[in-house]
Amino acid sequence: MATLKAGTKKKAAKKPEKEERESRDPLDPKRISSILKILEKTYPNVVCALTHRNAWELTVATILSAQCTDVRVNLVTPALFRAFPTPKAMAAASLSEIEDLIRTTGFFRNKAKSIKGAAQVVVEEFGGKVPQTMEEILQLPGVARKTANVVLGSWYGIAVGVVVDTHVMRLSRRLELTRETTPPKIEQDLMKILPQDRWISFSHELIHHGRQICFARKPRCIDCSLEKLCFSSDKTWTSH
Ligand code: SF4
Repeated sequence: MATLKAGTKKKAAKKPEKEERESRDPLDPKRISSILKILEKTYPNVVCALTHRNAWELTVATILSAQCTDVRVNLVTPALFRAFPTPKAMAAASLSEIEDLIRTTGFFRNKAKSIKGAAQVVVEEFGGKVPQTMEEILQLPGVARKTANVVLGSWYGIAVGVVVDTHVMRLSRRLELTRETTPPKIEQDLMKILPQDRWISFSHELIHHGRQICFARKPRCIDCSLEKLCFSSDKTWTSH
């Protein structure tokens, strides 16, 4: 039988990557905790990138951000809120006035209808204030679960769900936190595995990471703080 000389250590043979991938549990709580710690350290105190001064402005900005960059939305909203500073003023505006001010965000006709309709519901049903429950806020035209989670989480600090946008979708799948492909199912998976007090900040951090490093095409894996924990098949560089 072969013996080791005193003072020498037997080197563990490196597992082939496929075997390593299969033997890992991507949902191991320790791994998830490491991902959360790294994200928090990489993006301390991240906030929503949409400029807003209150819940109503954040609701409108989030409606406008569909299929549009936050930078573009932030260029448009100052003039929009100067012209119509309150839900009451927005409810009384004509569709064409709103359309003219939001044209460059794309899908402007639908967005104008949603914004005016949401303003009317806020004024008529909720006394001019954006409501603070998921059930009520979903009554606003143009407000689906993603927008509701943004407003409830970022403005009111109420964590009733996880914002799942295109970045959160892509990165959650690359990090194997979900295998689902639709936002509602991905949100359900994330709510099961993340502590509730991280639901709000986690999506902000992932959105920043998706914008700065983990691009849809050619992610910058060599610069990624999560690289060691990532086994995504579309990595552009790997250390393991
Ligand atoms: S290693 Fe690459 S694919 Fe994985 S999270 Fe980082 S940037 Fe994205």
